[in-house]
Amino acid sequence: MTTDARAHQARKRFGQNFLHDAVVVDRIVDAIDPQPGQTIFEIGPGQAALTGRLIERAGHIHAVEIDRDLAAILRRRFDDTQLTLIEADVLKIDWHAAASKPLRLVGNLPYNISTPLLFALWPIADRVIDQHFMLQREVVERMVAPPGSKVYGRLSVMLQFRYHVSKLFDVPPEAFKPAPKVTSSVVRMHPRPVHELPDVNASIFARVVAAAFGQRRKILRNALAEILNADEIRDAGVDSQARAETLSVESFVDLARRAATKTLTPECRLA
Ligand code: SAM
Repeated sequence: MTTDARAHQARKRFGQNFLHDAVVVDRIVDAIDPQPGQTIFEIGPGQAALTGRLIERAGHIHAVEIDRDLAAILRRRFDDTQLTLIEADVLKIDWHAAASKPLRLVGNLPYNISTPLLFALWPIADRVIDQHFMLQREVVERMVAPPGSKVYGRLSVMLQFRYHVSKLFDVPPEAFKPAPKVTSSVVRMHPRPVHELPDVNASIFARVVAAAFGQRRKILRNALAEILNADEIRDAGVDSQARAETLSVESFVDLARRAATKTLTPECRLA
C-alpha cells in the first residue's frame, strides 16, 4: 500500500473494505488468470490491492471508481499505458461506450450495490467473457442455490438462466481493512453462449420470475394471476399449486413461453 493509500479513510457509504491479505489477492488473481491483450475491467479498484497484480499480469486494465480521492491516488500510481480509469458510478456506466471488445469483469464489489450491479450487467452478458467477483457469502449462496433451497429466489433464477455460476472459495473478514461483519466469497460467472440460451423473450421471462417471487408465500396461480391463469400454468407443464421456490429455471422458461403466446389485454401487457 502507498503512503497516499494509507492516509485514505475508508468510506462506509462506498462499501470500502480493502483487501490486505496478499495470499487472498494472489488466489483471486490466479483464479482470474489475466492475460495481455484481454479487456479486463475492474469495478472499484480502491487502494489497488487487485489492480496492481492485474496490471502486472495483463499489462493494462480498465477500472471504474466512484471515490475521487482514490481515483486521484490511482492516477498518481499508474500511468495511461497501465490503467484506463473512469471516475463514475458503475451503475451508470454505458458499457457499450466503455469498451468495444468482449469484457472480463472483475472486482471486490461494494456490498451495498452488489445485487443491483448483477442485474445491471445481465443485459450485457453477450458482450462479456467472464465475471469474477467477491461478494458477501450470503449473496453468492443465493446465486448458486438450487430449486427447493431456502435461499433460492429471483437472483438465483435470473443469473442461472443467463450464466454458469460457480462459487470458488470463501474469504474471512480478517482479510480486509476495515474487517466487514460477514464472510465473503469469490464467484465465477460465465455467460451461457447464445446457442445454449432457451428461445424465450427475456423481458417476459424476467417479468414472470419477478411476479412469481414477488409474493413468495403464494402459490403460482395467485402469484401469477395477472399473467397466467391456472389452466395456462398447467398448459406450460407446471403445477399451479406449486410455489416459486420449488420451480426449476426450465419451468420458468416454460411459463414465460406460455405467457408469450397469449393475446394480452392492456393491463397485463408484459413487455
Ligand atoms: N478493490 C479494492 C480491494 O479489493 O481492496 C476495493 C474494494 S472495496 C470493497 C469497493 C470499492 O468500490 C471501493 O474502492 C469503492 O470506493 C468502490 N465503489 C463503491 N461504490 C461504487 C460505485 N457505485 N461505482 C464504482 N465504484 C464504487
